[in-house]
Amino acid sequence: MVPTASNQPASRICGAAPPWSNAHSKWSMMRTDAAYPKCAHDQPQSMCPAFGALRVGLRMRRTATILTGSACCVYGLTFISHFYGARRSVGYVPFNSESLVKGRLFEDIRDAVLRLADPTRHDAIVVINLCIPTASGVPLQRLPQEVAGVRIIGIDVPGFGVPTHAEAKDVLAGAMLKYARAEAEQGAVAPPRARSGKPTVALLGEMFPADPVSIDALLDPLGLAAGPMVPTRDWRELYGALDCAIAAAIHPFYSNCVREFEEAGRPVIPSAPVGQAATAAWLDAIGAACGIARSKIDRAKNAALSSIRAALADSPIKGRITVSGYEGSELLVARLLVESGADVPYVGTACPETPWSAPDRDWLEAQGVQVCYRASLDRDIAAVDTFSPDLAIGTPPLVQHAKSRSVPALYFTNLISARPLMGPAGAVSLAQIVHGAMTNKARFTRMSEFFTGIGTGPTAGIWQQATQRQPPLGERKTC
Ligand code: SF4
Repeated sequence: MVPTASNQPASRICGAAPPWSNAHSKWSMMRTDAAYPKCAHDQPQSMCPAFGALRVGLRMRRTATILTGSACCVYGLTFISHFYGARRSVGYVPFNSESLVKGRLFEDIRDAVLRLADPTRHDAIVVINLCIPTASGVPLQRLPQEVAGVRIIGIDVPGFGVPTHAEAKDVLAGAMLKYARAEAEQGAVAPPRARSGKPTVALLGEMFPADPVSIDALLDPLGLAAGPMVPTRDWRELYGALDCAIAAAIHPFYSNCVREFEEAGRPVIPSAPVGQAATAAWLDAIGAACGIARSKIDRAKNAALSSIRAALADSPIKGRITVSGYEGSELLVARLLVESGADVPYVGTACPETPWSAPDRDWLEAQGVQVCYRASLDRDIAAVDTFSPDLAIGTPPLVQHAKSRSVPALYFTNLISARPLMGPAGAVSLAQIVHGAMTNKARFTRMSEFFTGIGTGPTAGIWQQATQRQPPLGERKTC
């Protein structure tokens, strides 16, 4: 199809509408768009989304988490939870065709909740419907709201309805905030264990532990403090979060949580303090929302920006980097890379477009970066193939693809998300890991040369006989 003004895509939802900013890549990306198969539900490929909600439940003190779904799903989710250090049992209510069809499964879930509800051990019990119970309509909303003072929270997190594990975190965190808001509206609630004397800024999104400390230092000259991070680690922190002066959607996909803050009358601001430009705009937005004097805001900005500017200057990044991932902070990482001096032609995120990432998207697009929401693996791979970066940051299959082409690559979740991003510490830390990876280029080239001629795909491995390739199905002779 020849692109004309009328058939140029308008939206940034990739797969339907690629944004173009680089003429030489236009045709190859356009061809890819037409060619690559979309996955079963036209959704990005990521791990089972329920993992996000499960992880939020498992990281919260005095909270029990129960899964209900197919045994294979529960096995995989339990395995990955313990791989990431859950150190806590995952509850499971199994089912079979009969208990599902006759409605016995709901009774079994209710029995499990009643048995587990011990107020000396638990503040809350979370029940998560996986794909099959959700599709079968197992009505978790009919569970008791509370048993012996233990709150019961049932959520549906099917792979066919919640596209990413990141958004599944929001499903559970939003449900908890809603419950806590209703409690606070009915009367006095227990105060948070740690409480700042200053008005607070609640932080939406899981961050590296040093980041809230950096944010607190940025807010201090404004007379504010970093409030609880949502998802919280303790039920009482939910009350503290709702008691904030303002909420910051550091991770922009927490739409359910944003709704709860807005219901509680708290303004929510987008973006995050990464690099110079975003930090300046973020402090301006906070100051304006909290009615802080212009001179005070300017003093806070001067103090913050000079140290960030110095960190960026001391940690320059040279080279072309593509960024993709399913954590929701991809645009923030791309901003920091661009300010560090990197050439970033593409950033893809499996998360959706929301108002809370709009300033980051606008800033990146103004720098010539293609921003792709709901990016599929195929789209991310096409970006690597098109732009031939010096470093590809992405999901495990993307990293595998890049390395197979001798392109150094970093797994976003384990290596980028597990580092500070905010303030001066973010600039220094990101540059360190990026430099370390980019200097590996020569090793990848040596390995590729060494393995040249070795089979790939179905011909990989050590075989006594050469693999016989079958003709395509339509060309096979029948017996
Ligand atoms: S997406 Fe659904 S079917 Fe797939 S592992 Fe998760 S719960 Fe199971």
